[in-house]
Amino acid sequence: MYKRIGILGGLTPESTVPYYIHIIHRYEEMFHNQAYPEVVVFSVSFQRFEDWMAVEDWESMELELTKGLHALHDAGADFAVIATNTMHNLYEKLDRRNIIPLLSLVDATGVEVKKAGIKRVGLIGTKFAMNKPYYREGLAKYGIKVVVPDEEDQQEVGRVIFEELAYGIIKDESRKNYLAIMDRLKANGAQGVILGCTEIPLLIKQIDTKIPVFDTTTIHAEAALQFALNS
Ligand code: GLU
Repeated sequence: MYKRIGILGGLTPESTVPYYIHIIHRYEEMFHNQAYPEVVVFSVSFQRFEDWMAVEDWESMELELTKGLHALHDAGADFAVIATNTMHNLYEKLDRRNIIPLLSLVDATGVEVKKAGIKRVGLIGTKFAMNKPYYREGLAKYGIKVVVPDEEDQQEVGRVIFEELAYGIIKDESRKNYLAIMDRLKANGAQGVILGCTEIPLLIKQIDTKIPVFDTTTIHAEAALQFALNS
């Protein structure tokens, strides 16, 4: 039997579904059968997280995520992925609570960026992902330097995430704005760009640009599948 995968999701629901779908479809593609690992999803109620993020109440977010991890553990998950880049700001604190083994999105991304031979990478995501030290420091362990957009571009990236992508709204104009922001990162020395918010791959695909992109949703979901299969 494979390990049972836990997904701490709802952060936001629009990106939780792609985790689940990736795990199932990728397994089918690999093995041509449907004996995929069991999956448990715990979906938080997101509004409270938005309110807590607005006032940077990380303590409340940590407690709420702790409850979610307990729920996954109680439902028999053998390990969990926290299906968001932003909440990895709390990864070490949550991991230290030893509720259930966790697989880090930042580590999984570091492995892929390094594999691509990229030393300087652009990062787009929420203002927390772009500015808190956890992402930069996490990637530094893989010898990777991070470049982020300027203040105005960061505002636009954040606006699109919370006003559009979190509701499943996909707009051509926003895609154009993101691609221009990514071009500016490239002009600033980025050899690739991390789509460092699990909703961004709904808007930007590799086919939209020549700049190598790292889709953190797929990377993290793939890491979860491989961990379930191989350990
Ligand atoms: N899913 C997003 C991320 O990957 C943002 C939503 C959230 O704040 O959790 O960072």
